Amino acid sequence: MKFASRLVHFDTSPGDELRPMATPIYQTATFEQEHADSFGAYDYSRSGNPTRRVLEDQVAALEDGTRGFAFASGMAAIATVTHLLKAGDEILADWDLYGGTARLFGRVLPRSGIAVRYVDASVAGNLEERITPATRMIYVETPTNPMLRIVDLRATAEVAKRHELLFCVDNSTMSPYLQNPLDLGADIALHSATKFLCGHSDVTGGVIAVKDAKLADEIHFLQNAEGTALGPFDCYLVLRGLKTLKVRMDAQQRNAALVAEFLERHPAVGEVFYPGSEGHAGHGIHLAQARGGGAVLSFTAASPEAAKAVAETSELFRISVSFGSVSSTISIPRKMSHASVPAEILAYRPIPESLLRLSIGIEDAEDLIEDLGRCLDTA
Ligand code: PLP
Repeated sequence: MKFASRLVHFDTSPGDELRPMATPIYQTATFEQEHADSFGAYDYSRSGNPTRRVLEDQVAALEDGTRGFAFASGMAAIATVTHLLKAGDEILADWDLYGGTARLFGRVLPRSGIAVRYVDASVAGNLEERITPATRMIYVETPTNPMLRIVDLRATAEVAKRHELLFCVDNSTMSPYLQNPLDLGADIALHSATKFLCGHSDVTGGVIAVKDAKLADEIHFLQNAEGTALGPFDCYLVLRGLKTLKVRMDAQQRNAALVAEFLERHPAVGEVFYPGSEGHAGHGIHLAQARGGGAVLSFTAASPEAAKAVAETSELFRISVSFGSVSSTISIPRKMSHASVPAEILAYRPIPESLLRLSIGIEDAEDLIEDLGRCLDTA
C-alpha cells in the first residue's frame, strides 16, 4: 500500500473481535492477571498499553522501522535517546537545534557527565574533524529549526557507520510522509508528535522509531524504567491526527510554497529560508532525501522591531511556539522557542533577532498572503 492508504488501513484494535474502526482508549493503569506468577500481554500501562501499542506499531510502520515508541513529549523522547549514553560519552550535534534540545544538551546532560560538541553538520566534511574517542552519537535535525538548514543524511550516516556511532535524526519538521531517516542510514528517527503527527495543537507527545532489535529493547527498557510513555487518551488523539497526515501536509506544503514565493519577492523581506525553494542553499540535497519542502519556513524582516510588528499585526498567523498545526502560526525564535538556548551555544547559532518563523496551515493561501502583505507593508 502507498502512504495515504497505510495511514488509514492498519490494525486499529489487534485481537478485538468487535473490530472497531477507531482504536479504543484503554484508559487503565493496570490489567488483571490470571495467575500471580505470570503476566498476560499487558500488566501495567507504564510498561505497555494496547492504545499506545497501536500508535507505536503505526509509527514504526510509517518510518520503515521495526519498533516504535510513544513518549509524553518530544523532549521525553530526546531525553530517552541521550540515556543510551553514559558518563564520559560525547554527542556530536549540529548547532542548529530546537531550543529545548539545546537546553537539555547544555544544562542537563553535563550533570551526568555527558558532553555535547557542536558542529555545522550541513557541511559533511566538518563532522569527522570533531569526532573524538569519546564520541558515541551524532544528533541532527534536518531541515533544522529555525534556520531550515539541510544536513545530508546519507553522508552523515556513512560517517556514523565508519566511526561506529549512533546516528539520531529529529524528523519533526518533515514527518514520515516527507522524509524517512532510517531508510537513509540513521539508527534512530524521532519526532515531536506535538507537531505534524498530531497536527491539531491538542497533544504534546514524542515518538521514536528504530530498525535494530537490540536498540529497540534498550529504548523500551528506558521507557518503562523512566515512566515517560504517552498516556492512552493522547495516543488516541495522535492516532486520529495521523490518519490525515498526508492530506494536511499536502495542503500545508502547497500553501508554504506560495507563501515563500510571495516573501521572496517582497521588498520588506530580507532572506527567506524555505528548503522547497530552488534558491535555498540546501535545496538539491534536501530533494535527494525528502519528498517536498514541508510547511515550515523562516525569513528576516527589516529589523527586530519590524519582526515584532509583523507578528503582532497579523490576524491569521497566531503568535505561538511550536509548528505543524492545521492553523498557521508565527513566532520570533530568538524570543520564543529558542530563548532558552544557553549563551555559549548561541555563539554557534547565528539566529537573527529579526527572524520570523512561520508554520503554514490549511487556510486558503490567498488569505495568508494578503495578511502577511498587509503586515509587512505596515511594519
Ligand atoms: N524537536 C523539534 C524540532 C521541536 O521543534 C520541538 C518542539 O518545539 C521538540 C523537538 C520538542 O518537542 P515537544 O515540545 O513535544 O517536547
